[in-house]
Amino acid sequence: PYTGPSAVDILSKRKEYLSPSMFYFYDKRPVNMVDGRMQYLFDENGRRYLDAFGGIATVSCGHCHPDVVDAIINQTKRLQHPTILYLNNAIADFAEALANKLPGNLKVVFFTNSGTEANELAMMMARLYTGCHDIISLRNAYHGNAAGTMGTTAQSNWKFNVIQSGVHHAVNPDPYRGVFGSEGDKYAKDVQDLIQFGTSGNIAGFISEAIQGVGGNIELAPGYLPAVYSTIKKAGGLCLADEVQAGFARTGSHFWGFENQGVVPDIVTMAKGIGNGIPLGAVVTTPEIAEVLTRRSYFNTFGGNPVCTAAGLAVLKVIEKEKLQENAHVVGSHLKDRLTALKDKYDLIGDVRGRGLMLGVELVTDHMLKTPAKLETIHIMDELKEIGVLVGKGGFYGNVFRITPPLCFTKEDADFLVDAMDYTMAKIKGSLPVRYLGIPLVTRKLTENDCVVLIDKIKQRLHHWSARNLNYAGRIELISSVLFSV
Ligand code: PMP
Repeated sequence: PYTGPSAVDILSKRKEYLSPSMFYFYDKRPVNMVDGRMQYLFDENGRRYLDAFGGIATVSCGHCHPDVVDAIINQTKRLQHPTILYLNNAIADFAEALANKLPGNLKVVFFTNSGTEANELAMMMARLYTGCHDIISLRNAYHGNAAGTMGTTAQSNWKFNVIQSGVHHAVNPDPYRGVFGSEGDKYAKDVQDLIQFGTSGNIAGFISEAIQGVGGNIELAPGYLPAVYSTIKKAGGLCLADEVQAGFARTGSHFWGFENQGVVPDIVTMAKGIGNGIPLGAVVTTPEIAEVLTRRSYFNTFGGNPVCTAAGLAVLKVIEKEKLQENAHVVGSHLKDRLTALKDKYDLIGDVRGRGLMLGVELVTDHMLKTPAKLETIHIMDELKEIGVLVGKGGFYGNVFRITPPLCFTKEDADFLVDAMDYTMAKIKGSLPVRYLGIPLVTRKLTENDCVVLIDKIKQRLHHWSARNLNYAGRIELISSVLFSV
């Protein structure tokens, strides 16, 4: 049993010693996770949670998968060392295995410590190779948080005051909210316009995910990537695929996300699931493009160190041995069918999307206006946690459940997840999730009209919160004044 500090103790240390920018889920009752086992996490009291989110952030194979843990321990006992200076088999073996998973001439691997670093490197290589500076990325994208990648990231809530040198953001081919629905070629035309009217006509490249993760598990409209890749090539640019989330068998039907649109990129970047939780990233490209880095010395102390690459190789072996890609396809399809059926039952669900074990459920209060149901999303997420199910939250408006479990997720797990959602949604149907606001109210069942009025008023108050920088008590007072007026 766990005997370390409690959630309360940890929280107070975090408040005192860690950056105030570090957020966590379940802010009213954050959870102290102390153990992990495959698709489960366990808190300080030994309570088990089904993890339907952590697959994306950390684990592809399952928490603490024994094969990956063994690989890490064995290599750590033998040697851990910076990547350069001497030869070591771990980096070479993993590079070979990884390159063999990629199509075409994508055969040269550079290792990094994170997805941000991988994308920074990929963008620099594209600029060096083409001699051009302009890069196109999609609105709603997330590609990292260093200077260059923050420029390509295109959601204001993840951007600080960076100089977006040479970056152009194209209209997002989002089948649910996008202006052209599912018509991939119409969105692709916008990229052509950006090149024609916003650049010299020649560009360094284009970067995108096949399914936008942070953006809310949005699968790009069909036909988009082939059309855009051909436009980019005509402008002399390189096509960069960010596989940090959609790669490593997650989409089930294919090993890489971009394969779902039948394209072959010039540069592929990856991280997260590549090491089942160990810090590791990679850039894979062709020998011709890789040459650009020989013009100077390129150095990365720990990118591709023996321990991390030993973990990476173990991950590839587990995916193969346990047929995790097939599992992602079978379980993911079943899960998507069940979630789609749930959509028919609850108006609150505006969209169910994604592929394999990378699914999104978008909540809206109005199907026509697609008004983001932000409060409901947080409320349901909290309730699911109480039942023992963890889902992620994302999308620009924070109204999308991101369902990205470890790839060992079973059909029974999928059923449990959907049943838990069904139960939670049934409970809030017809009443406002006011508990989220911290007010033990609802003395009578609210009418539909009450809800509309309330939501509007609360929205105005939400605006006040940020404008006036109110503390918790101040917010409660404001919200109470709205609620007691109905
Ligand atoms: N690309 C994508 C698609 C991501 O989702 C992320 C992380 N959310 C990154 C890049 C950056 O990866 P890291 O946090 O490892 O730097």
